[in-house]
Amino acid sequence: MSDVVVIGAGAAGLTATTALRAAGLDAICVEARDRVGGRLATTEGYDLGATWFWDGEHRVADLVARLGVPIFDQHRFGDAIVQDHTGIRRFAGNPIDVAAYRFGPGANALAAGLAAQLPETALRMSTPVTGIHLDGDTVELRTASEALRARQVVLAVPPALAVARIDFHDGLDTDLLRRAEATPVWMGAVAKVVACYSTPFWRTKGLAGAAISRTGPLREIHDMSGPDGTRAALFGFTPAAALRPGFEAAVTAQLTRMFGPEAARPETLHVQDWSAERWTSPPGVEQRMDYRLFGHPRYQRPALSGRLHWACTETAPDHAGHIEGALHAGEQAARAVLTALETRIG
Ligand SMILES: Cc1cc2nc3c(=O)[nH]c(=O)nc-3n(C[C@H](O)[C@H](O)[C@H](O)COP(=O)(O)OP(=O)(O)OC[C@H]3O[C@@H](n4cnc5c(N)ncnc54)[C@H](O)[C@@H]3O)c2cc1C
Repeated sequence: MSDVVVIGAGAAGLTATTALRAAGLDAICVEARDRVGGRLATTEGYDLGATWFWDGEHRVADLVARLGVPIFDQHRFGDAIVQDHTGIRRFAGNPIDVAAYRFGPGANALAAGLAAQLPETALRMSTPVTGIHLDGDTVELRTASEALRARQVVLAVPPALAVARIDFHDGLDTDLLRRAEATPVWMGAVAKVVACYSTPFWRTKGLAGAAISRTGPLREIHDMSGPDGTRAALFGFTPAAALRPGFEAAVTAQLTRMFGPEAARPETLHVQDWSAERWTSPPGVEQRMDYRLFGHPRYQRPALSGRLHWACTETAPDHAGHIEGALHAGEQAARAVLTALETRIG
């Protein structure tokens, strides 16, 4: 039996695991995917999930400093572009991008850095939790291959996903279950598209790489090149529901109209559909729109007779949706576990 099982090795789960082990507990983290990071997803240096953090997000700033992850400023110099049904207009200056920081190796470096500091035995990959129930004083967790037992559990998974994929054996009351089912998954209904080029050619035309479009397919576009314009790339968001045959050609046609003929042939076009990610989004993710449920007071209290603690960006009491919120939720859950064990609930 472990002191604590943490479900999910995203930013929140890894933060909780790290804090619990630093406090001397036997905490293990079980992760459904074969990689850590969840929505911190970097492929060949390109961020297909989170991209930025902002001034005032001190937990991210501290983590970056602790792990030695290099950061740089989001590129935002030059003119922006606005597209509507009448056509494309160049806007003097860039009111679209705000000052923000990027992660040199990509956002997944935060998760990889945290995971690297855990002993190998503390992290179980490719192990989705499928069932949780209270058995006397302990919690039993089912995975495909075994049953794990713990005194306390940290559920570092978006609530709507947790209740869709995990059988709680009637352990959650109806009010909590209904709220969890209705809580949106941040960016879960979105597809992120990254177009990679050999050079940031738009910069030499005085363009920032920033655009807003009322016609789509991409609704919002930003420069996502690496430091000093290396790994040149533009990225955009679109509702995942807009993905259909011909989508990629429509994207390159849109980028060409906005940024010129060089945009017509990206070296690579990544299309990351977060709504289709089994371990991020529950079915019908796009129907959940009540963002007032983020950080709801029910998520600040443990469930399962004080033994199950919520911890993910959606449950964070502040900065919900952001990496900062995930780190806050992970720290808070770790503190709640320690309190529960000290007061002998666990
Ligand atoms: C396209 C996109 C852009 C974004 N941009 C930004 C940005 O620029 N800045 C910012 O601050 N934030 C951004 N975000 C949000 C940010 O990525 C999240 O706030 C943060 O990564 C959430 O971390 P988490 O640990 O709470 O959840 P997750 O990252 O979702 O982690 C949950 C983990 O649990 C695992 N899991 C799920 N179910 C199970 C199960 N049954 N058993 C075991 N494991 C399970 C998952 O595989 C995953 O690893 C963006 C997100 C997306 C998708």
